[in-house]
Amino acid sequence: MSDHKIIIITAPSGAGKTSITRYLLEKYPHNLAFSVSAATRNPRSYEKDGMDYYFLTLESFKQKIQHNAFVEWEMVYEGKYYGTLKSELERIWQAGKTPLLDIEVKGAIHIREQYPESTLALFIEPPSVDELRRRLEMRGTETIESLMARVNKASYEISFKHHFDRIIVNDDLQKACREAEAAVTAFLGMGQIPR
Ligand code: 5GP
Repeated sequence: MSDHKIIIITAPSGAGKTSITRYLLEKYPHNLAFSVSAATRNPRSYEKDGMDYYFLTLESFKQKIQHNAFVEWEMVYEGKYYGTLKSELERIWQAGKTPLLDIEVKGAIHIREQYPESTLALFIEPPSVDELRRRLEMRGTETIESLMARVNKASYEISFKHHFDRIIVNDDLQKACREAEAAVTAFLGMGQIPR
């Protein structure tokens, strides 16, 4: 496993890491593949099992913990578990690609500690916590309670930003995408594509 590379995009929820992840996947489809996590929350209307997440029951998630099937897992929200399956990373490496993980801060730190030499971990920082709240409200996927939980958690998560290889402030999405791209291409030894 240590020869294989891992790229992690982490951030508080709503900081724009999903947009940056999508940008990188679209730009480098032959080099990168999205690491589909396992999760116990309910799918959103537009989400597909096996594409966005492997949606599991709590029971089967706990079974996988017992069978040591995860590289990392976290209870990200009260009673809601998320985790990166070893089998998912293997699947992507077998295809000759580098897995791109969109995961929360603790899980990202956990993977980076296990594979310090082979992991690139980028922290996407929102311009401010107020802006983060505004973005989550606009996204419209949260109840008031879950929105407040995400905003409170964000302040705490930002305090861990110095654990990562690069901090990218997302005050301008295009600029943030380009910064992430430069870090990824350097890490993969690809050199920058001229534009
Ligand atoms: P959402 O419910 O909005 O899809 O995701 C909630 C949070 O869980 C996001 O910050 C997302 O990046 C994170 N997440 C998704 N998959 C994983 C995972 O496998 N492990 C960890 N630790 N966090 C994850």
